[in-house]
Amino acid sequence: MFYSLAVVLPGIILAYLAYRGIRNDQALREKDSRRKLELNSQAFFSAIDSSFVQLVDNLIFDSTLSLSLKYDPSMLAMFVNHASGSKKLIIHHMLYLPDEFRTKPPAKFGSEINMKEGVRLEFMEQRITEALRYYDNIIRNPKNTTAKIQALIATARLYNKMGLPNNAKKQYEIIRQEYAETLLNEQIPLELIAGLEILKINQILDEKDEMIFNSIKCLESLLHPQCEYNKNQYELFYQSFKEIIPKTDPIIDSLFTELDIQSSRTDQLIHIITEPNLIAMNGNAQFNGDKKGWSIVPFYSTGLVAIYLSQTEDNGDQMNIILDFPVYLKSIAEKLIQELDPDASFNVKIENNEGRLIYSKAMNDESSYLSFAFPDNLPQWKLLLSENKPGFIATLLTAGSGIYLVIFILIALLMVLGFLFTLYTLNEELRLNKMKSEFISNVSHELKSPLTSIRMMTEMLHQKRVQTEERKSTYYSVMMEESERLSHLIDNILDFSRMEDERKKYNFIDLDMDDLLLKFVESLRESIQEAKFNIRYSCPDQVPIIKADKNALLQVVYNLVDNAIKFSGTSRNIDIKLFSKEDELLICVQDYGIGISSKDQKKIFDRFYRSEVSQQMGIKGSGIGLTIVKKIIEAHNGSLTLESKANEGSTFCVHLPLKKQIR
Ligand code: ADP
Repeated sequence: MFYSLAVVLPGIILAYLAYRGIRNDQALREKDSRRKLELNSQAFFSAIDSSFVQLVDNLIFDSTLSLSLKYDPSMLAMFVNHASGSKKLIIHHMLYLPDEFRTKPPAKFGSEINMKEGVRLEFMEQRITEALRYYDNIIRNPKNTTAKIQALIATARLYNKMGLPNNAKKQYEIIRQEYAETLLNEQIPLELIAGLEILKINQILDEKDEMIFNSIKCLESLLHPQCEYNKNQYELFYQSFKEIIPKTDPIIDSLFTELDIQSSRTDQLIHIITEPNLIAMNGNAQFNGDKKGWSIVPFYSTGLVAIYLSQTEDNGDQMNIILDFPVYLKSIAEKLIQELDPDASFNVKIENNEGRLIYSKAMNDESSYLSFAFPDNLPQWKLLLSENKPGFIATLLTAGSGIYLVIFILIALLMVLGFLFTLYTLNEELRLNKMKSEFISNVSHELKSPLTSIRMMTEMLHQKRVQTEERKSTYYSVMMEESERLSHLIDNILDFSRMEDERKKYNFIDLDMDDLLLKFVESLRESIQEAKFNIRYSCPDQVPIIKADKNALLQVVYNLVDNAIKFSGTSRNIDIKLFSKEDELLICVQDYGIGISSKDQKKIFDRFYRSEVSQQMGIKGSGIGLTIVKKIIEAHNGSLTLESKANEGSTFCVHLPLKKQIR
């Protein structure tokens, strides 16, 4: 009860305060972290802006960079709208182009030559071998490249007619390898037409593996065109490939899918490039960087998220760049984040407008992220930031921040300890209460039995029922002995109660221990009960006089000898020895009885304790004799030692100091 008032209540209050402290502390830290994350998000967005500025700057001033941009996968297109109204495409990543946007003129390899002779031999006169020789001759000594290409195609055609498809394949291979960038009649890409012819031969010859290999090659050429052609040409070849190519290979499937994606992107890019007012309609967001005059417009539709950068120059020309935003961002994100947060103290994620993860740099995925929308001049994506939380110990060590948590833990610990302590004390209290009630019943019994026998004998004597003098004298001795026992017991009880409330007073006088013990043993031997025992007393040397309380020491010796008698079992020998050793006077009482187990040796000096063995054997006692002995010896600055073995007997020795005497 007291404990709960004194410890639990303040504990609960303190714990509540500490808990509030932790929450406040946490709230402060969260606020601080939110502010940090906000600053970082702003820094990240302006770093993206600056990266555009840098890109544009380099583009204008560094022609080598503009060349390398051609191979930059994020650069979808760069084009100029001239003040005159015409448009010029400078760089692009598109599958096909409207004719007016061709960046390079188709290769001209000289004009076609008249191959009338060959046509006559081949078609009219059907002299195939001679026609072949004619075309071969042209291949070996061509007037120009166009003539050579024409002749290569004609020979391939003738080989097919002659039933020599492998020879025809060789001719088409030559065309595919040597003239990949060439348009036949400024229209038809030779690479693709040769590829298609080879596929046809593969199909006829049922060359399955080679067909797959060639199909992949053809689709790759369609995906990464070596020359520029228009949508009609593209679709023509796309359809032809689709018809002839078997759909059994996963690589082929994925190439077709990629072609579909890229063709839809190409259409959208053509729309952006050809729409004259796209920037005028949307482009009011300006760069934050120092490069003025550039507009930036996000553009997104299915399959394409782009950034459209545009600037009108002094002469009225408009320079335009279209960037693939996801590719561009992925390419710069790592570097930007490294610059902004070199210690990697933040987790960064980027999600697109559909909530799909585009980029992630997270050390620890359990932390909660704060979401920041991209600014208006960029696509409506989200930047997710979270602080890399330090571990529990690190939080505790962080100056100030974990103090409440420490207090909280200490209080919790204290309460648990207090609870355990209460349980322990309660248990002890219960044990002691049980012992006390046992003590009362034991003592009542001890008091009652001598009284009963005294009363009985007195009655008999009074009624003159005892005849002989001898018998009368025995009765008197027993009565004396019993009253002696009673008086010892009462002395013990009174002393015990005085010692419990520290009221016991001692009267220290000069004492000849030898003399005292001699008289004590003498009186013992006279009593009938003890006469049955062989009580031997020895004091080999003369011992010094000591300062002690005579009655108290008599009580000590009486209690020890009384126990020795009670616990002697079948043995009848008891030794009392007095001797001095170094600066101590020793009084030892030794019996050869039931002995004390080592477990009990630790407890027998506790008040009310009685060993289980003695209770089972029905040996009477109160459990306070040894407690009194110990207290008296302590009051004399002495000590008590015990040596005992079960069934062999026990020796209790009182050690009284000779030098440190009490005055
Ligand atoms: P009690 O009145 O029971 O003798 P004590 O305090 O004198 O009370 O002794 C406590 C317990 O110590 C006894 O109950 C007994 O179990 C044990 N004890 C004391 N002296 C001896 C002894 N000489 N031999 C065996 N056991 C002893």
